[in-house]
Amino acid sequence: MPATPPASTLYRGRFAPSPTGPLHFGSLVAAVGSHADARASGGVWLVRMEDLDPLRESPGASDAILRALEAFGMEWDGPCLYQSTRMEAYREALDRLASAALTYPCGCTRKEIADSALRFESAPAREVVYPGTCRNGLPPGRAPRSVRLRVGEAQIEFDDAVQGHCRQQLGREVGDFVVRRADGHFAYQLAVVVDDADQGITDIVRGADLLASTARQIFLQRCLGVPTPRYCHLPVATDATGEKLSKQTRAAPVDPDHPGGTLAHALTFVGHAPPAGMDRAGTGALWEWAIANWDRARIPRARAVPVPD
Ligand code: GLU
Repeated sequence: MPATPPASTLYRGRFAPSPTGPLHFGSLVAAVGSHADARASGGVWLVRMEDLDPLRESPGASDAILRALEAFGMEWDGPCLYQSTRMEAYREALDRLASAALTYPCGCTRKEIADSALRFESAPAREVVYPGTCRNGLPPGRAPRSVRLRVGEAQIEFDDAVQGHCRQQLGREVGDFVVRRADGHFAYQLAVVVDDADQGITDIVRGADLLASTARQIFLQRCLGVPTPRYCHLPVATDATGEKLSKQTRAAPVDPDHPGGTLAHALTFVGHAPPAGMDRAGTGALWEWAIANWDRARIPRARAVPVPD
């Protein structure tokens, strides 16, 4: 692990982008919200590059994201942690889960699972629930592909600072989930939990698109015996059709050469509209104002908010 600021700090937050493309308005909102919340609490703010999957990575994206954060006036503490350097830690966590008989090999393809038609209708993303085909051993003739974690009857509840009380019954709404993918990569759910624990993260501020992953992460934290951080899920920026702005929908990258207006816009999106004209005073003035006035109660209590083009 690279040297990071003292673990005694009461608040340790992070921004954890995946370098699949340049920073766009949606990811800027997550960065701004986590940075403001950490600094307003006198806390540490770390940046972790979630470069687990080389095939989804876009060349130069990690550096472009870090340069954009700097241009928007956000300085992280300590060196940026790259998930690509953390394979040993993920392997060790996976071994621990396996030794406790919490995992099993699964031979199902994505299509077989989708065809099994077990869907949890009220889940926001209409998650496909894994039907448990390989739970009691691989069917004859099947080769192992992924590794799954047994969730049993676990019901996870947590209080999110913005989204309120959340509850998920993992067995019924998600099913045993993948901790090592069929392509050999460690799953996001495992890596994020191992890293948040090793970095001593106390507060996770991120987009509400990850709300549906939180119960899985809390379950994994319990399986690994690590603390559960506090959660604060910000509304997600969508286009006019309700589609999340993402690198996949080719949301326009934010322009680091003209940061003032866009930073003011991102602060406004999370309920902190700066005084008129302050955007022209530069990012330093905007941050000074935002940190002095930051109040989680001002964040809109919504999972998604459209942004005009
Ligand atoms: N890397 C994830 C993303 O870019 C975020 C992970 C997290 O904040 O937990 O969507």
